[in-house]
Amino acid sequence: MNPVVIAVAITGSVPRKKDNPAVPVTPAEQIESTHEAFEAGASLVHIHVRNDDESPSSDPERFAAVQEGVEKHCPGMIVQFSTGGRGRDPSARGSALSLKPDMASLSTGSVNFPTIVYENHTTLVTDLATKMREFGIRPEIEIFDLSHLHGAKRLVEAGLIDERPHVQFVMGVQNALPAEEHLLDLLLGELRRVLPKATWTAAGIGRNQAPVMEWALKRGADAVRTGLEDNIRISKDRLAKSNAELVSLAVQAVERHGRRVATPTEARTALGLQSRA
Ligand code: MG
Repeated sequence: MNPVVIAVAITGSVPRKKDNPAVPVTPAEQIESTHEAFEAGASLVHIHVRNDDESPSSDPERFAAVQEGVEKHCPGMIVQFSTGGRGRDPSARGSALSLKPDMASLSTGSVNFPTIVYENHTTLVTDLATKMREFGIRPEIEIFDLSHLHGAKRLVEAGLIDERPHVQFVMGVQNALPAEEHLLDLLLGELRRVLPKATWTAAGIGRNQAPVMEWALKRGADAVRTGLEDNIRISKDRLAKSNAELVSLAVQAVERHGRRVATPTEARTALGLQSRA
């Protein structure tokens, strides 16, 4: 079996530092937290940036600072920017793509979130995909609903993304797809039918992080995702100390399944990216 890429989502789009002080907010904190996670085994970092008051930021300078720090301190690590929505003006969601990160997240449809509609109008999706193609950025397709797989298929047919995209199933967001094992089978079955060459991973939100990772590894996922964006707890009674601590648990899960953690070079090969050597 191929080695498993460990992706770490270091900082989300919901303010959480008051709930867990380990959530990194400033670029310096984000670089340090990413470096620890890299040393622990992560080979891909998913990045949201924030203002110092923790409000979501679209400031390309912040993205650039984190990107530069990660490239300097974490050689070969895959840098993935979020183009996700919560609290950001849709027109600003692609504002950092000109920095040419290796990858960027791309949602291909709308869905209900806990308190908002996560709106991804087809015009916005097409615009973001077009920018990613222009800047040579590989998208990670975020699947919050079955219909989003068909949204991705339409982008392939339009020539905006290639036939071997990297796809992430997101499970356990309140009001969206529940984290249930049989639903992962359903999603995977549809993925194999509509995008047979795709690589894939799955993310479980909150207490679903560990079980979704298990289900994904059981089914031969190319990557797993962890990090404080999705989950701030080790257990009901204990907060995670760092992104690195969550990555260490992912390493253990990968090894329990008789697989090996991918190096940055292997991660780049697996996800169809150029080497940075
Ligand atoms: Mg995100």
